[in-house]
Order: sequence, then structure tokens, then C-alpha cells
Amino acid sequence: MTPPPTQDSNRWLEAGAGGGPLGNVRIVYALALMVGLGVFMVDAFAPLNIAVAVLYVVVVLLVSSVASTSVTVAVAWLCVAMTMLGFLISQNDPVAPSSIARCAVSLSALIAVSILAVRNQGVHATLRHHVDLLNLTHDAVVVYGLDDRITFWSHGAERLYGWRAAEALGRRLHELTATQGAVADSEIHQQTLKSGHWHGELKRVRKDGATVRVASRVMLSRDRWGRPVGILSTDDDITETRRMEVELREQKEELLATLDAIPAMVWSSFDDGRPTYVNQRWSEYGIDTRCEGDVWPDILHPDDLADVQSAWGEAIERGSHFERTARIRHRDGSYRWTVIASAPLRGADGRAKAWYGVNTDIDALRKAEQALDRSRNELAHTTRVSMLGELAASIAHEVTQPLAAIVTAGEAGLRWLNRHPPELAEVRASIEQSTSDARRATEVIRRIRTMARKRDADITDVDVNGIIEESVELVRREVSSHGVEMSVMLADMPLVVCGDRVQLQQVVINLLMNGVQAMANISDGAKLTVITARCEGAARVQIDDTGHGISEADAKMLFTPFFTTRKDGMGMGLSICRSIVEAHGGRVWAENNKRRGARMQFTLPLAQRAMQQPTENPVLAISGDTTDE
Ligand code: ADP
Repeated sequence: MTPPPTQDSNRWLEAGAGGGPLGNVRIVYALALMVGLGVFMVDAFAPLNIAVAVLYVVVVLLVSSVASTSVTVAVAWLCVAMTMLGFLISQNDPVAPSSIARCAVSLSALIAVSILAVRNQGVHATLRHHVDLLNLTHDAVVVYGLDDRITFWSHGAERLYGWRAAEALGRRLHELTATQGAVADSEIHQQTLKSGHWHGELKRVRKDGATVRVASRVMLSRDRWGRPVGILSTDDDITETRRMEVELREQKEELLATLDAIPAMVWSSFDDGRPTYVNQRWSEYGIDTRCEGDVWPDILHPDDLADVQSAWGEAIERGSHFERTARIRHRDGSYRWTVIASAPLRGADGRAKAWYGVNTDIDALRKAEQALDRSRNELAHTTRVSMLGELAASIAHEVTQPLAAIVTAGEAGLRWLNRHPPELAEVRASIEQSTSDARRATEVIRRIRTMARKRDADITDVDVNGIIEESVELVRREVSSHGVEMSVMLADMPLVVCGDRVQLQQVVINLLMNGVQAMANISDGAKLTVITARCEGAARVQIDDTGHGISEADAKMLFTPFFTTRKDGMGMGLSICRSIVEAHGGRVWAENNKRRGARMQFTLPLAQRAMQQPTENPVLAISGDTTDE
């Protein structure tokens, strides 16, 4: 603990300036009184022919050493009066000229000494004021002689070093504080004498044994003839500052070590995007961690560079978050998929003043995703083919029916041609009929081929209404063959989503056929399926049936792979539906209808770019009860 400043600090100055403890003051006054009375008695009554009154100067000097200027002046005047009184008492008629001369000498001496005493008091008052000012500063101010002995020790020095002024005055500074520094005491001394000043950092020991670090500024003091007379040292306690610096340095080193240990590429940059720091991980990508110049062209895949640079430039301009997925070249030359993300550090004005970023290697994840996509596509394809197998009979009928119609139309045409004269108008009608039937057959085959083909996902903008229409076309006969009546309610606007047409058709057909299968053993009531599409922030498709519905136990398992309640079921249909819908950013779920049967539903997010405009004929009702044409 730093001791409080003491009253007796720098007593050398206090004593000279007329201050001092009350006890001393009283003694001085008493002494002055006794001297004054003694001088008066001797001067007035003793027949001595000498200027005894000169001794009044002792009274003035004593009083001036402890009293204020006005008291000193008053005492001086009192002494003048007593001198005059003593002169008058001691004189006989006639007055001897030698007595007058002695009195005049005494008065002159008294006045001269009084003036000097008052002046001296003024000088001391100024000096004391300066000392008070020095004591006001928080820094430790120490004055010491050329022999290193302390002559002034400020309150700041008492606080910093723990020694009181009374303890420090007269001691050698460097011994008292066990000074240590980068340079020896003698060298500091020499340099101060040579250049008049020195500054540097010193280690000193306090009275309580603790070590303090001080920033010391030393100035040489000279007298009016330029001779060195003393040294003034101002010491600032920097112990805490240095401790914090060390702590900060350690924290920084720890932080850098942590950043190097992170299994990601960590970086920072100036507000304009120039890199300021990259962690050790970058060296695995052949980047010098001293971080000079633009690093992106060195590591980014040429196909990704322009996109990343333009997005990065835009983020810097707007001061907004930045994220891109791109390929980054590893030291071994391979490119790895990486998420590059960065966020700005904003100043008080809200502007980005620096950027901090992390590049996370997602190559393994990307490859796993791609493998998963491939598996999903393959599985979807397999289940699609198996679904087509189940529809084979009705699909074959869809094709044979127009083919039979073509044959009929061709025969009829020949007959019209063989007439005399040939009935050309009838021949034309037959040919038009067979062309239209051929187109129908071709369209059915095209749809089946598309469904059966093994292919990668082809993501485009597709209208969910159209997908439902095409799906219904494919299963219409199958639905009808099960005695199920089907109706379709399309949305009153295009429901454009971003997705794969074939996969989404697969979902609709799957849900539709599941409903048909659930109605297979229904003997009471109508077999009915209703497909509804509408816009509810997203495209929503609902497929209702009047089948046996879903039991509470089955409901939890419905979308689990290989869950089936059908004898010849595979249990993959709904699971594939879910993976397709979720891959499109949507959701699929099942519930029971209030009256009877199940309701399967799915939603798909609408494509942002598409304009969702109302259409003219929203409702397309198709009866499942189709007949051969
Ligand atoms: P699978 O058709 O091969 O059984 P799915 O995954 O398509 O496989 O269906 C799983 C099970 O979900 C079916 O076995 C059936 O029990 C139930 N299910 C699906 N759709 C319906 C529905 N519309 N009504 C009642 N149960 C259904």
C-alpha cells in the first residue's frame, strides 16, 4: 500500500519558509520576546555606550522565520519604537551626539534587516508554492545532488516508492531504491551531465520490497553560471502498463496459436479487402502466411474466381456479410470445395473497418452429398421403373388403343380410296384421324420413356398444375380399371416451382396410386380420389381418397424406408416421395380425412422469379370413368 503524503515531507524547505509545527512557533515567539525585552532593558537602563539596539534584528529574524509578513513588519515597527523609547530613557540633557549616532546605526540595521527578512519571506513563499505544485503531480518528482543524495522527495515519490520524505532526504537515490536498468547508474549520470537529460525505463524496489517499473525522465539543473547543481527526476509508474502489455502479448500469442489450431482457413482483411492475416492452415494451400498481396487468384479454381471476386467486391462495397462456395486449390494440386464466409467488424459510424473470415473445407461433405444425390436418383429411378411395371397393363392399353384406331382408320381410308370415283374427303378424314391417334400413342410412349430413363436430376422452372395433368394422364386408365372415380382441382394460377419434372410426377403418381390401392378392398361407398392444387405461400398439393385410412400406429412409420402393410409392397414409395420433396425444399405428410380415407399432402416453395398469374380455367375435372375411343 502506498502511504499517505506526510506533513513533514521536505522539512528543509518548510523550516526555511516560516512554517513548522505549532510547538516550535511558540518557542520561537517566546525566545523573540525574551530577546526583545532583554535588549530593551540593557539599552534603556544599562549605562553602556554601545549600539545594543542593533540586537533587535535578532527579534525580527526570529519572528520572520515563523510568522507571516504582516506580523514580521509589525514586530519590526515595534522594535523601532522600542529603540526610540530606549534612546529617550537613556538620555540626559544634553543629548550626546554619539548616542544619536548609535541610535541611528541601530535603526538603520533594524530597517535593513527587516526589509531583507520580508523579501526572504516572499522568496520562500514562491518556492513553497512551486513545491506544492510539484507535490500536486501524480508522477514521482525527486531532486538529488550530483552526489546522488536526495534533496527533494515529492508526495508522488512517497506514493510510488513507499518511503516518506523524512526517510528519503539525504539518502542516495539509487541505493535507496535499488535501481536497475538497461544501463548502469553511472552511465545515466554521465549522460545527464553530458547532454543535460536522460530518459529510459528503470526497475526499482519499493520500501515494502515490491518491484516497480518506472519511465524515468532526468534533467540536469544548473546555476546562473551554468554549473551543474542538481538533478531533477520525474518517474512515472508503468508497472501495470508493462504487466498488461505482457498479458496482452501472451493473449495474442495464445489467440494466434488457437487460430492456427482451428481446422479451417482463418483470415482477416482491411476494410478494402486487402488481407492482413491468414492462419497457419493457409500454408497447406501454398500461401505465405506473411500475407502479402491478393491471395484469391492463387488458390481459387479459375471457374470460380470471377464469381467470388465479384461477390466479395459487392460485400465490401455494401459492408454486408459475404458467403460463397468455391473450389480452392490444395498444395497437392487438388481442388477442394470450400465455404468462404466473412463478416465485417463495424466502427462507431457503422462502416466496416475490417473483415474477419473463415474458409471451411466441405469437400468431404460435398462428395457425400453428391454420392447421396446419385443414390437417391438411382433409388428413385428403380422405384419409378417398378411403378411403371405395376402400371404396365393399363399403359399397354393406352398404346394399343390408338394403334387399333390407326389400323381401323387406315382400312377405312383404303376403302374410301377404292371407291369409283374415290371419296377423297373421307380419305383425308381417315388419314387425319390416324395421324392424331399416332400422336397420342407417341405421346404416351414419350412419357413412359421419360419416366423409365435413367438420368440425373434436371432442375428447371415447372408448373405444378402441369405436373399433375401429365401424371393424371399416365394413370388415368389404371385408376379407372380399379373402379375409382378421380377428380382434379387445379390452382387458379401457375404454381411455378424450381424442380425436376419427372421426380415430381413420380411423387404425384405414387401418392395417387397408394390411395387407389387403399381403396381396393372397399365394398361400401364410393371409391373416390380428389387431387387439389393451390397456392398458399407455397405450392400445396392434396390427394384425398376414400380408402381404409391410416392407423395411429402406422402413421409414425409411414415414411420410413421398407415400411409396408401391403402383401406385395416394397415400402419404398413414401420414403422416396419424402426424399424428393425435401430435396426440393418442401414437406410431405399424411393424415386421415374427417369422414373417410386418407389425405396425403405436400408443399413446394414457389420459384422466386416466376410470376404467379391467375389462369383462365382453373378447374379441370377428369372423370376416372374413361372409355375407349
Ligand atoms: P408400399 O406402397 O410399397 O407399401 P409405400 O411407401 O408407398 O410403400 O407405402 C407405405 C405404406 O403406407 C403402405 O403399405 C400403406 O400401409 C400406407 N399408405 C400409403 N398411402 C396410403 C393411403 N392413401 N391410405 C392408407 N394407407 C396408405
